[in-house]
Amino acid sequence: MPQIIAIGPYSDRDATALEQDFDARRVASLAEMAELPEAERKDILAVAFMGHDPFDGARMDLLPSLKAIANFGVGYDAIDVEAASSRGIRVTNTPDVLNDDVADLAVAMWIAQARDFEPAMQHLRSGDWGRGRKLPLARKASGRKVGILGLGRIGREIADRLAGFKCEIHYQSRSRKDTPEGWTYHADPVDLARAADDLFVAVVGGPQTEGFVSAEVIEALGPDGVIVNISRGTVIDEEALIAALESGAIRGAALDVFKGEPQVDPRLIGMKNLLPLPHIGSATAETRAAMGELQRRNLRAMLDGREPETPVN
Ligand code: NAP
Repeated sequence: MPQIIAIGPYSDRDATALEQDFDARRVASLAEMAELPEAERKDILAVAFMGHDPFDGARMDLLPSLKAIANFGVGYDAIDVEAASSRGIRVTNTPDVLNDDVADLAVAMWIAQARDFEPAMQHLRSGDWGRGRKLPLARKASGRKVGILGLGRIGREIADRLAGFKCEIHYQSRSRKDTPEGWTYHADPVDLARAADDLFVAVVGGPQTEGFVSAEVIEALGPDGVIVNISRGTVIDEEALIAALESGAIRGAALDVFKGEPQVDPRLIGMKNLLPLPHIGSATAETRAAMGELQRRNLRAMLDGREPETPVN
């Protein structure tokens, strides 16, 4: 009977590696795991987890021998880490290997939003260009004052890229960071939004940052501002964002993540000043392969009783 269970929608490559290297049993979701007979759950030692459904204490208790959860992804807000620690369960994640992809995407979304890629492509595809019709002018991206909310691993990569676009860098974190000269620290998100033209959201998700981008932060950004969110949908007060996009209180937004995803609030879907993407921050073949390898190295270390490379608890 396998002692490892792989939960989630793995690629063929990762599924094969988990089966071959760990003799892992695969299920699509936590709900499917919960439906396994008790005899099949009781000896499971480790979970290779991929997904965003809540992995809470009650679900951990369905696996009474569980000692390790190796998460596929850097964001582990779906896992109740406190519940895991109190049960003696180690948790790992996959940081750093995805920084470049997520930062690339954030900057690409920001430029695509400023330069009106979607209407411009539509202008060509519809034949309007060929018919000699005029396309309204877009807005310049380079040289803006940008605010990075959360100068962690990904936030720093975004800031480094934006510095190359001649932007003035402002950031908010819980403490000052060692940064290049000229970057400005703000202790408060509202102050950050007030100082910045555009705002990049790169803080962790989870209950501690829920609604961190509040109505006040959005208002402080002002009518020319754009919000780019690659962190988690929960970080933004989505009602306040929708109201601001509808009223023109901000210029626009570019979102890779949504509250309640993959369901997206229908009011957002049709908005012309929103650039929406279906959570593809780390979705390249190269990065997903690196994430899978790191997940499996962590899993192997925990099963062998060694310290994992990237522990969470
Ligand atoms: P990280 O290095 O841990 O940085 C997280 C940032 O969040 C830090 O700036 C940290 O602040 C801040 N933070 C943590 N706890 C906080 C709290 N309680 N209150 C306020 N700020 C808090 O994480 P990362 O590797 O950059 O990843 C950031 C997030 O990006 C992940 O958690 C994940 O949700 C998201 N992500 C999304 C995608 C995607 O596909 N769109 C892909 C990967 C990651 P300090 O600087 O003060 O420590």
